Amino acid sequence: MKKVLVLEDEANIRSFVVLNLKRAGYETVEAGSGEEALELLKQHPDIRLALLDVMLPGIDGFEVCHRIRASNSKVGIIMLTARTQEMDKVTGLMTGADDYVTKPFSPAELTARVDALSRRLGGDTAPVDNGEISQPPFLLNTRNRTLSKNGQRIKLTQVEYSVMKLFMDNPGKALSREEILESVWGRDYYGEVKIVDVNIRRLRLKVEDDPTNPTYITTVWGFGYKWGF
Ligand code: CA
Repeated sequence: MKKVLVLEDEANIRSFVVLNLKRAGYETVEAGSGEEALELLKQHPDIRLALLDVMLPGIDGFEVCHRIRASNSKVGIIMLTARTQEMDKVTGLMTGADDYVTKPFSPAELTARVDALSRRLGGDTAPVDNGEISQPPFLLNTRNRTLSKNGQRIKLTQVEYSVMKLFMDNPGKALSREEILESVWGRDYYGEVKIVDVNIRRLRLKVEDDPTNPTYITTVWGFGYKWGF
């Protein structure tokens, strides 16, 4: 059974989330603080996905996300944000989260987002081929889902990997943000197309020589992005 960590300091919200995840077939591990969440992740290496509330006593959800990513690129992360938080600030701070859900959310929305991320993490749609896409200086290995540039490994989240795979399967083709969203996040994604921009911004920091002047992932104004070769 897929194990989900639920980090939320408000007990009633936490039990609401846990109840709905259990109904949807997930096993849950509960944390009331960021420190506790990090400890539980160490104790349960089989946790596949983490829901992180942002506003917490002690270290906040962004810091928890940051610390998880420092050691683990595999776990899926969904941030639980409040509507009152400015989205620009939130997205800027989402270093390493795969998705976010805005409070208040319905049980259906939450489980749909968890299901969608969980499916993407499954990696069960990986094609069986020779496993490598070489576009120097980049090499994408679809078997271990890794990317390297000039032989140097670039650490990617599973979502970032999926975006890179889409780009490298379509070199030189302008892809609309909606197309990227549908291909990577799935047709049933409830969120906003902005999540694409958040991930592209982060990918540029990892793959570009100069992220402020991107040459590999170029912007197609008013449309989307292009893997520019
Ligand atoms: Ca809170």
